[in-house]
Amino acid sequence: MSKCLYCGRELPPLQTLCQECYERRYIETHSPRSLFETLRDFVSNPLNITDSDWEDVNRFPAPLAIAFCFGGLLLCWFGGWARVRYRYSLFSGVVVVGALICFVVSLLAALVLARKKLRWEWDTASVIFLLTACGVAGYFYVGSSAISTLLKAAHAR
Ligand SMILES: [Zn+2]
Repeated sequence: MSKCLYCGRELPPLQTLCQECYERRYIETHSPRSLFETLRDFVSNPLNITDSDWEDVNRFPAPLAIAFCFGGLLLCWFGGWARVRYRYSLFSGVVVVGALICFVVSLLAALVLARKKLRWEWDTASVIFLLTACGVAGYFYVGSSAISTLLKAAHAR
């Protein structure tokens, strides 16, 4: 007579596992992960951040990216000023509204384009922010000079 390896129940010769233990182990190893287990893993690390992700964040040149973001903000402000054709002071409401439009567009572009999987590429985000701010401010700037050129042309006639 031999005995079951798991519960010690007596078995016919040459068997190591009783039917009950065999079925239980089969279910444990073949059933999909329960919803609770999946949920617990997700809550403990929702963005699935690994150690190498943290190394990436640390490798990122912070002062440069901060400079890019700051430059982008200044460009937004300039864009807002250009948008009202420099007729208002830098701190007037219309200039701030123009700067906010530029800021929101640049931020959205950075948010959408700099995402890799579920995590952020901080250095890429700051570059995209600066470039988009440059583009929107440039658009406002070109728009302002185009309008003034048209007005001059209308005056001259
Ligand atoms: Zn057993």
